[in-house]
Parts: sequence; C-alpha cells; structure tokens
Amino acid sequence: MSDNRDLRNSAKRFTYITSSVIQVRVPVPFSLKWINSYLLLEKNGTYTIIDPGLRTLEAEQVWEETLQELSLTWRNCSAIVVTHQHPDHYGLAGYVQQHCDAPVYMTRESKAYTDKLWGTGQAQFERDMEKLLVAHGTPIEIVEAILANMQGFVAKVEPQPVVEYIEAGQTIRLGDRQWLLIHTEGHAYGGIMLYDSLTKQLLCGDQVLPRITPHVGVVAGEDRPVLSQFLANLQQISKLDVKLVLPGHREPFEGYSERITAIIQHHKRRLASILQYVQEQRAVDSFTCCEWLFGKHLREQPHNMRFALTETIAHLDHLQEKGLLQKKNDCEGLIRYIINE
Ligand SMILES: [Zn+2]
Repeated sequence: MSDNRDLRNSAKRFTYITSSVIQVRVPVPFSLKWINSYLLLEKNGTYTIIDPGLRTLEAEQVWEETLQELSLTWRNCSAIVVTHQHPDHYGLAGYVQQHCDAPVYMTRESKAYTDKLWGTGQAQFERDMEKLLVAHGTPIEIVEAILANMQGFVAKVEPQPVVEYIEAGQTIRLGDRQWLLIHTEGHAYGGIMLYDSLTKQLLCGDQVLPRITPHVGVVAGEDRPVLSQFLANLQQISKLDVKLVLPGHREPFEGYSERITAIIQHHKRRLASILQYVQEQRAVDSFTCCEWLFGKHLREQPHNMRFALTETIAHLDHLQEKGLLQKKNDCEGLIRYIINE
C-alpha cells in the first residue's frame, strides 16, 4: 500500500500531540511522503494552521477528511503561518486563505522567494538554474528534466496567497499562546521557527529534522555561503531550551540539542569524505562528485537529483571557502574543484 493511501486512514492522518496541538500529515508526491502541518487550537473554537502543505488533490482531500473528523471547518481558521517558502509548506496557503479569508503570515524575504520561484522572477531563476547545473557538469538531458520538474510546481502553489509580513524577533499570539519568531537560514532564506518559552515547544519548519538531515543547497543566481550559514545558524539556535520539537517532516521528537549536534557531525563527516575524494581524483566537477555521493539512480529522479546536486555544490563550495579546495573554470566553462596546495 502506498504511503499516500495510508494517509487516508485517520489514525495516520493526524495525531493529537497535546490537547491543543494537532499534527496533520499532508501527503506530498515525493520521497518525503508527507509534510507535517500543525493545528494550534484556540479556546474560542478557532485554530491556526502552520504550513498547510503542497497543493495536490490528495492533500486537499486529506484536509477535508481531517477537518470533518475534528469537527472543524475552514471558516474556523483564524491564521495561516508559513515557516518558509518551500512549496511543500507554502503551496496550499492561498487555497486555505480562499476558504477562510484568514491572514497568511510569512517573512518578507520568504515571500520574495515565492516571486522568484513562481512569479515575476521565474524565467530568470530558470536561466540561472540551467547555467548553474551546466557549469557544474550536469548532462543537458538531466538539466532539462530538472527544469521540467521545477515547472511542475507552479500549479501546486496556486493560488498564491495575500501575505502579511512577520519578522524574526517578533512575538505572535497563536493558539492562545505567545510564540517568539526565530530567524533560520541555510535551508531556506527568510525562514522562521516559532518558539513558546512556557511549554518549550518549537515549531521548527525544516531547520532541524529527526532521522533525515535538512536539505542545504546553493540557490541558483546567488552567491551565498549556504553551508557555513546553516551550520552557524544551528549553533545559534542550539542554545534554545526546547522540550518538544514539532518538525516539518517525520515525527515530533525530544533531544533537540543532541539532534543539532548530530546534524553538524553529519556535515563534518561529509566534508571530510568529499575532501578525500577530490584528493584521490585530483580534479572533480560537482556532478561527478554528486553521483559518487548519492548514486547514479538519481538520474531517473530529477527532483531528488536537484536536491543532491545543489547540496553537493554547497559542500564543495564550503571546502573552497575554508581554503581547502580551489575552484577552476576550464575553457568550456566547466567548474572543477582541486586541492588547494
Ligand atoms: Zn523546506
């Protein structure tokens, strides 16, 4: 049985985490299988939705069935908060807003990315993505498959919501509680987490995930040290006193600071093995390194290939920033990394 069909079963569809927080597993048509949306219930019968999910028919149906079973309606929704702009979190925000007329809260930077990905900046972003992938040694048929896959997301974020801006450092009242908004970066620029210091609960989007590491990849057309910024942000947010983490994927968990340490260790190990690989190969492009890291089967999975490739480039660039590798352009514009001796 597919996982999405599993999600038709109410026992799998939603879970009461506490008497006022419900985890809703909203299906997504890729390897992550579902995204966690959270309902924060309010005493007057209204509720807030954190990260409503990706716009697909299956997701709409899971929402309809879940609300019905919980005796809630869209009209009871008082606010929608999107932790970051990735389509699996943001895609349904406009659809939900159409049904309840509630405000959709996001940061200004996060919203700007939605314009870049699926609005006025889309054509430029696609050109930047093509340029990036080609320069890093990706065969053209794979570049084309990745671009076509990205186009497929446009319909899955429609209609786009009218957004009210929030920003890190601000406190926002949702679910009859005060939540402090905390800045995140590296996984998605402009992202926020929501922290309740009384219960020590953290709605962290994808910044800290259990069992899987959050994706950290270069953004086409930008030149930001994503991995350095992600690791620095993890160090910063690890100081929070968190009892229960409510993540965007997989299950809520305890052991927040241990999980952050494990994610940092994962990247250190990966950097060390990539450095050794470049040393053995003498010169390597990102696509070759990516296939060595993740395997050739990703050629058939453009969505996963994009994640793997941008993540590989982020690691190679990080080693370059640290002065361990050099980045060389050959006469055809192909970027290769060599050991900096
Ligand atoms: Zn994400």
